[in-house]
Amino acid sequence: MLTNKYLLGVYETVKARNPGEPEFQQAVEEVLESLQPLVETHPEYEKSGVIEAFVEPERFISFRVPWYDDNGKLRINRGYRVQFNSAIGPYKGGLRFHPTVCPSVIKFLGFEQILKNSLTTLPMGGGKGGSDFDPKGKSDAEVMRFCQSFMTELYRHIGQFTDVPAGDIGVGAREIGYMFGQYKRITDRFDAGVLTGKSLSYGGSLVRPEATGYGLCYFTQEMLSCMKKDSFEGKTVVISGAGNVAIFATEKATALGAKVVALCDSTGYIHDPNGINLDVVKDIKLNRRARISEYVKEVPSAEYHDGCKGIWTIKCDIALPCATQNELDEESAKILVKNGVCCVAEGANMPCTPEATKIFLDAGVLFGPAKAANAGGVATSGLEMSQNSLRLSWTFEEVDEKLQGIMKNIFHNAYDASVTCGKEGNLVVGANVAGFIKVADAMMRHGF
Ligand code: NDP
Repeated sequence: MLTNKYLLGVYETVKARNPGEPEFQQAVEEVLESLQPLVETHPEYEKSGVIEAFVEPERFISFRVPWYDDNGKLRINRGYRVQFNSAIGPYKGGLRFHPTVCPSVIKFLGFEQILKNSLTTLPMGGGKGGSDFDPKGKSDAEVMRFCQSFMTELYRHIGQFTDVPAGDIGVGAREIGYMFGQYKRITDRFDAGVLTGKSLSYGGSLVRPEATGYGLCYFTQEMLSCMKKDSFEGKTVVISGAGNVAIFATEKATALGAKVVALCDSTGYIHDPNGINLDVVKDIKLNRRARISEYVKEVPSAEYHDGCKGIWTIKCDIALPCATQNELDEESAKILVKNGVCCVAEGANMPCTPEATKIFLDAGVLFGPAKAANAGGVATSGLEMSQNSLRLSWTFEEVDEKLQGIMKNIFHNAYDASVTCGKEGNLVVGANVAGFIKVADAMMRHGF
């Protein structure tokens, strides 16, 4: 609970300045709560005012995105980019295309991204963007026209030394390709470093598609090994989502000896006690862009259930929520604990509600918070930027090895910070504190 008088004041100001933005307020509250032990032992943070500056975005951009659908009808969406903090590097963070995108969601994601990027130890500030455009059910031509219109405004705000967007929900290699093409057309420059998540043929990095899911498993494996002398081997795993993060988390968890028995999309979940057949899922999601319910047509031994929440009633040892924010609530957390879950690590951003997180921490369940556990994607984006600057491409093995090293480091930095704060093993506190110290130090050195 937030009890420190000074931090409560900061939080009240955030609420007053950002009314009707529950996701952003939730993300700020969680971080301020974690910073309490630090602020109480280091008066310079309060004295300098750095925390007041830290919770206010440097810049928030909102713009109109007009595009024509296949029937020749004009459609209007809204585009956003928050350039939240550039203290330790150019703004960096994905673009999300989803009907739920709004200023609150963009600001919460951008705020989380500052600390996540700091944890990677790479020189990247925090940003995020997107649109309320829904790519579902749109033709390739419609997606292309939307992406071109989106970039026609966004291009003036980004650059390899300014702000480097990537993908997120609804934005994969197809969308990044269309946006890069439009950027190149407008500027007449092949600035490979302006976007990450590019395809291999024009400057992408090997392992980038796999990085968030693989990184999540590397982080979880290190957490299990150091805090419980355990591993993925022989464990039953439930993963929510069936997108980029969920698919590659399933692939790596399986390679590490676990059995993944469930996945979901926004309409329902599949339960396959024999272990998910990932080739079938990849074909449904990556090739056909169809619903996860198709899975049971090809694997009749599996079950499909409407609705997503039921996925957390499946008995498992490890739960990896990889779909979206606030998808795992208090009720689901209680069921998971009752069913004997020993480890939860967040692949999505803020998938567990604060109440659910508390249930896990109180029950002694190992808990990997998103900004540490899912940092593998942005870390590999950082490696993509390095390769673009060097005009070199590293092999799959080279990038994968660097990713493993980064995820292990993130775990140890967060764990060590939790010890320093007197909260040993609480990686929520550890990740927030470790990420914050570096950014705050740079901000104070720059002056306000
Ligand atoms: P994708 O668009 O590839 O996949 C998202 C998946 O989650 C889809 O299966 C989608 O189903 C499902 N989903 C979305 N909303 C809900 C919902 N309300 N309930 C249940 N399922 C839902 O996105 P990503 O895999 O890239 O991203 C997933 C999460 O991981 C996000 O929180 C993102 O911010 C985070 N993340 C992603 C990174 C990356 O590199 N891609 C990096 C770090 C974090 P449907 O298709 O039906 O909408």
